[in-house]
Amino acid sequence: MGALQTEIERRGERIFDLVDRHPESLFSKAGFYQRMMALSMRDEHFKVQLFRFVDVLASLHRGTDIAQHLDEYFADMRNGYAPLIRTGVRAAKIVPWVSGQLLRWNVSGMARQFIAGRNPKDVMKMLRKRRAQGIGFTVDLLGEAVVSEQEANEYASRCLELLEHLGRETRGWTDPLGKNTELFPVVNLSVKISALYSQMNPADPADAIIHLAPKLRPILRRARDLGAFVNFDMESYAHKNATLELFRTLFTETEFRDWPHVGIVIQAYLRDAENDLLDLLDWGRARGTRFAVRLVKGAYWDFEKIKSRQNGWACPVFLQKPESDLNFELLTRILLENESTITAAFGSHNVRSIAHAQALAEQLGIDRSRFEFQLLYGMAGPVKRALVEMGYRVREYCPVGELLPGMSYLVRRLLENTSNEGFLRAKFSDNVSEDELLRDPAELVAQSATGARHLEVSGDGASLDTPQGDTYENAPLVNFVYEQNQDRMREALAHVRTQLGQKYPLVINGEKVWTEKTIASINPSSPEDVVGHVAEAGIPEAERAVKAARDAFEKWSRTSFETRCRLLERAADIMHRRRFELSALEVFEVGKAWAEADGDIREAMDFCQFYAHEMRLIGRPRLTQHVLGEESYQHYWPRGVAMIIAPWNFPMAILCGMTTAALVTGNTVIMKPAEQSAVIGAMLMEIFEEAGVPPGVLNYLPGKGSVMGAHLVDHKDVDLIAFTGSREVGLRIWESAGKTREGQRELKRVICEMGGKNAVIIDSDADLDEAIVDIVYSAFGYQGQKCSACSRLIILEEIYPRAMDRLMNAAASLRVGNPEEPGITVGPVIDGAAHKRILEYIDIGKKESRLAFQRGDVPEKGFFIPPTIFANVSPKTRIACEEIFGPVLSVMKARDLDEAFEIANGTEFALTAGFFSRSPANIERAKAEIVAGNVYVNRSCTGAVVGRHPFGGFKMSGGGTKAGGADYLLQFVVPRVVTENITRHGFAPETTPLYRDEFLGPR
Ligand SMILES: Cc1cc2nc3c(=O)[nH]c(=O)nc-3n(C[C@H](O)[C@H](O)[C@H](O)COP(=O)(O)OP(=O)(O)OC[C@H]3O[C@@H](n4cnc5c(N)ncnc54)[C@H](O)[C@@H]3O)c2cc1C
Repeated sequence: MGALQTEIERRGERIFDLVDRHPESLFSKAGFYQRMMALSMRDEHFKVQLFRFVDVLASLHRGTDIAQHLDEYFADMRNGYAPLIRTGVRAAKIVPWVSGQLLRWNVSGMARQFIAGRNPKDVMKMLRKRRAQGIGFTVDLLGEAVVSEQEANEYASRCLELLEHLGRETRGWTDPLGKNTELFPVVNLSVKISALYSQMNPADPADAIIHLAPKLRPILRRARDLGAFVNFDMESYAHKNATLELFRTLFTETEFRDWPHVGIVIQAYLRDAENDLLDLLDWGRARGTRFAVRLVKGAYWDFEKIKSRQNGWACPVFLQKPESDLNFELLTRILLENESTITAAFGSHNVRSIAHAQALAEQLGIDRSRFEFQLLYGMAGPVKRALVEMGYRVREYCPVGELLPGMSYLVRRLLENTSNEGFLRAKFSDNVSEDELLRDPAELVAQSATGARHLEVSGDGASLDTPQGDTYENAPLVNFVYEQNQDRMREALAHVRTQLGQKYPLVINGEKVWTEKTIASINPSSPEDVVGHVAEAGIPEAERAVKAARDAFEKWSRTSFETRCRLLERAADIMHRRRFELSALEVFEVGKAWAEADGDIREAMDFCQFYAHEMRLIGRPRLTQHVLGEESYQHYWPRGVAMIIAPWNFPMAILCGMTTAALVTGNTVIMKPAEQSAVIGAMLMEIFEEAGVPPGVLNYLPGKGSVMGAHLVDHKDVDLIAFTGSREVGLRIWESAGKTREGQRELKRVICEMGGKNAVIIDSDADLDEAIVDIVYSAFGYQGQKCSACSRLIILEEIYPRAMDRLMNAAASLRVGNPEEPGITVGPVIDGAAHKRILEYIDIGKKESRLAFQRGDVPEKGFFIPPTIFANVSPKTRIACEEIFGPVLSVMKARDLDEAFEIANGTEFALTAGFFSRSPANIERAKAEIVAGNVYVNRSCTGAVVGRHPFGGFKMSGGGTKAGGADYLLQFVVPRVVTENITRHGFAPETTPLYRDEFLGPR
């Protein structure tokens, strides 16, 4: 054993000794809290329910509501406390006011355990007490998630007030150690950067800095005048780079360059942490003034893991706890070895991590007064006491704020305290031995590398409940957090700009066909810029295309499905290679913001991969039933020539999705993109040509829907029409396809997806922090031009004023502009006609309802429409019933949930819907009662992911098909069963295979 490990153990044992001298359970508050935590650690289901209940409780005002939620969350408990809980629930129902208040009081007690005070005045009592114990402080202002600039400005003012107050109240306080005091000001403020700017976007750190720096400078100046210290806390990974850059930018400014009392957090659970720290170190050396780093493991571990899994991103955090511990020690060494540049603060409750920092400092000859330990308020009290007794500098992180906004902080702390892998639980609750607690994390990491420890559930999270065959993995989204991805997008935009204005031919039977007429596709942000000129097909070209497709059908329909699947997969690979270029093209051609454009390309790739995957599941003839002496195999034949008519709003994804479904099932295709996005359509054709689609199998035919499109819909040789677009056109196609023309072979199949008038309901107990962000995004993201967009918002009366207030402020804060800029949420609408139509609807809205909010600052050039909100909208008005397809939101008030559902369901459409609530019973009702093809609970109602959220509606929203779902391909085929009597003279084989080769005929 090395000398350092021996010293760590010696020090660790000393800390444990001191801790044991003042025994205190992990949950120092006895009674209710202790019991709840003990139960949570025994019973995972109870823990989930308890934390959810705590989360909602602060927003419940009436005793009856509290009793009802208590019942909903806990009535089905099966653990040892069930009778107790049932009695509690019963009591709560009988005397709701008394029980409600009692519960609230108890949970408030839990919150008070972690929140040092409600306001600056309140917190001083606690700080004085700690001062007497030799413990310093850093104060952090808790707040609701900031959804608007108004809220961000309020947070900035509160920070200033807090500083003033602390400065005044601590006058005369001295450093507890009385040594190296110049490094450690008494007043120490921790700020959360995301609380100062509501529009932080990982793709655009520069914008964040432009907005954050002016808000921070007054706070920093005041702090310096008061001799205080300011620390930038670190939050989720998405904000990390902007926070680091902001820190470096501000503290390189002449005004702050020589100020040493500034610090930032490094999270050891991040794989990037070492690089970030080394960059900071270089920066600090160049700056020439010391600064501070608080080293922590990190508070968002679960969140980062979930988020990265959902988006297919590399997980930014280590997946094994000892890796984070080991990294913490590595970074501790870097900090201590560079003590002349960085003042270190070690933010940990873990005795091993603490003892390691102590031992290493000693080994490096650094005096214990030159760094500090920081611990959270309400946690690990005995460890703090022990460190003070050992003569170390201890600072407590004290959150200040009201209980309601403090709930998410409380839940994070509860999770930390009950985490299976946490040190505190291991030591104070599970009584793990000291030897084990002081083990070298390097040993544990080495052990797990050889497979001795399996801390991470392997694989993709699939459990026994996952249906067989569900192995499809979506393509990852581009993570614009990374600078190289931002650079690649900028380069792609610059490159595509040089390609604008080119000409694109039709492609019929593998040949490029030029026509006299062309369609000019323009840039909606800058209408004088032509993105491309696309040859316009007329009736003669349409006829040629049908003939080509019909001729190619025979061979393509008898090509093995495996060959067809591979074609799709090659196309996906090409899209992957050209991904940034294609996204950039979407920015120019249809005005999509970066992430929206990338999402569209990702979805197109997903369609290729998913439909190939699904085709392999249904491709082989499958035995219908095991029966002796006879075999019957069901399989599918393609329908024939498919006409694909796509919209411009998901210009690559929807066009590609419908096309690939048709191709992979063996149909031949005439692909008609929308005129507004015909260049992207040309790119899809190019991709399939490169992938090797045979001549005639896919034909690219942009042109006027009313002329060439209508002609093909009616054509006797077109067997299938897959359409996504407006209700008006959809219904016409549906009707027209119903007529049988002379010479027609097949009954035409129409796959029809139309619009929506999608409603989102905010229940009275909803979490507005999340609801407002998601609703603003659902309503105004891509300018409200998604068929899934939220265009009706129904708010329960009780929560209406607060929700409206936050909603309008959030809409006022959105970034509106040319989407070539990263981080834009609202760009231009697609063209002049849409612009005119939406403005007309806004005029109608002004007559029918009350204009509650409209942005005044949209660019003049381009087809920009100000985000607009109407309030008190009556459900029968035109703006509440008709699809507007723009950034216009109609808000309605509902007395109760019955009325809310009635309004939500009271349209002719049934596409998407959203419901925000924290009542399990109401959520169940929403799941059962909301009439929509895609119902989303507690999340945005847009952004369906292929395979995960099969997408499509019914009623006047479509024919009930689900793009990206398991049964979508069945729309493109006819089923066929081949039965053979396999008995010969009374003899038949005993077994028949479940699958057989395709019926492709002799080759
Ligand atoms: C004063 C102070 C300020 C803080 N400020 C911030 C801040 O600004 N930003 C921030 O993000 N955090 C911050 N934290 C850290 C965070 O809130 C937790 O308190 C801290 O991570 C707990 O670590 P520990 O060493 O006390 O406990 P331990 O029990 O040793 O470590 C628990 C931590 O290990 C990590 N972990 C858990 N499971 C795994 C796993 N399977 N694989 C890999 N790693 C895992 C997580 O980070 C978890 O929090 C702060 C902590 C303190 C004490």
